[in-house]
Amino acid sequence: MRILLVEDEKTLSGYIAKGLQNSGYAVDAVYDGEEALYEYAVNGYDLIVLDLNLPKKDGLDVLREIRRKDVNIKILILSARSAVDDRIIGLDEGANDYLVKPFDFGELEARIRNLLRREFSQIPTTVTLGLLSLDTKSKQVSYDGTEINLTRKEYGILEYLMIHKNQVVSAEEMTEHVWNHTFDPFSNTFRYHIHSLKKKLHTVSALDCIKTVRGQGYVMEDKA
Ligand code: CA
Repeated sequence: MRILLVEDEKTLSGYIAKGLQNSGYAVDAVYDGEEALYEYAVNGYDLIVLDLNLPKKDGLDVLREIRRKDVNIKILILSARSAVDDRIIGLDEGANDYLVKPFDFGELEARIRNLLRREFSQIPTTVTLGLLSLDTKSKQVSYDGTEINLTRKEYGILEYLMIHKNQVVSAEEMTEHVWNHTFDPFSNTFRYHIHSLKKKLHTVSALDCIKTVRGQGYVMEDKA
């Protein structure tokens, strides 16, 4: 899952970005409202964490502009503006959630998880496919009860494929949601990670859980 983090306080931004990355999210951090709109326009995000007091363009204007174009993207406002009126305005303008600073990182993460679950509304905390089970909260994966140790990127790829089971997903789509803008589309990085993921799954299950569809992408089929 890929998150755009719009927060001009660099220390706070670094702290949030690091925490979210440790939880397996791909995070792009920007520091003003104009940059936020630019990154939003060129990348595919699953969720935006948006501060309101921002240089160049106010967070509420950013929110309005994005909402005009996109009714589906999840937007969580993270702001020091704590008055009820501010919260009402934020939610009325289309934010999905509003968290007041100072905040607890665990709560921010729980709210992000909750919003992303609503986006993929069929997805509970635990996603299963055959004997394969993935916990979107603890980021743990197991096959028939045996835990599989995955890297963050491997986990991200697997989660995306399991959430989109029975659909062929292209490498481009997955890299868009699993990597941030430091990803080099001409590198072999994606192939390296998916190969390693397939190998780990094969070792524990003796099955090719992820099928390659030549020229199109990858699919995980639910045979049940
Ligand atoms: Ca600010």
